[in-house]
Amino acid sequence: CRDAAVPIESLDQLSKTSMPLCMRICHEHIRANHHIKHTGRMQYGLFLKGIGVTLEDSLRFWREEFTKKMDSDKFTRSYEYNIYHNYGKKGSMVNYTPYSCAKIIKDVAGPGDCHGCPYKNMDQGSLKSKLSSYGLSASAIEEVMFFVSRGHYQIGCGKYFQLTHNSSVEPSINHPNNYFEESQMAMGN
Ligand code: SF4
Repeated sequence: CRDAAVPIESLDQLSKTSMPLCMRICHEHIRANHHIKHTGRMQYGLFLKGIGVTLEDSLRFWREEFTKKMDSDKFTRSYEYNIYHNYGKKGSMVNYTPYSCAKIIKDVAGPGDCHGCPYKNMDQGSLKSKLSSYGLSASAIEEVMFFVSRGHYQIGCGKYFQLTHNSSVEPSINHPNNYFEESQMAMGN
C-alpha cells in the first residue's frame, strides 16, 4: 500500500496515467454504466484499496456511481457490505489482498463483464482500437501486439508501460498495484 491516501477525485486522472489496462477499463466501465458485476467489483475495489483509497472514500465512490441507477437503500442492502468486507471490516475480518496478474489472467470474463486481463480477453482488433484510443501510435501498438499475440500478456503490459512512460526499461509486471507504484515513481510522485 502507498502511504498517502489517494482521493477518489483523482481517479479519472490516475486511470489515464498510472493504471494498467485491466483497471482503467474497469474504471471507465463504472463511469459509463454506473455498475459493474461482482468479479469486476472485487478486482477493481481491491486494487483501489491497494493504491491507498480509504474505506470512506471507497464507500463514497461506489455509492455515487451506483445510485445513479438505483436507490440508496438498495445500494446499502446489496453492495455496501462487500466494500466493508474487502477492507476487512465485516464478516471474517480478513484484510483481502488485491488480485495479482496471475489471478486476473485466469478469471474468465463473459458478455457484459469488464474484469480480467484485456491483453488476454479482448480480440486483437478490439484491443488495437483500445490502444489507439489511449493514444498509442500504430508502431507502438504493433510492439505491444507482438507479445500479446504470442500469449505473453504481462510482457505486452510491460511494453505498454514503457511506451506510455517514455521509460528506457520495460518493467516486469506481476501485479496491477505494482504497475501503479512503478508508474507513480516514474512520474516522480
Ligand atoms: Fe492487468 Fe496484469 Fe493484465 Fe497488465 S498484465 S493488464 S497488470 S492483469
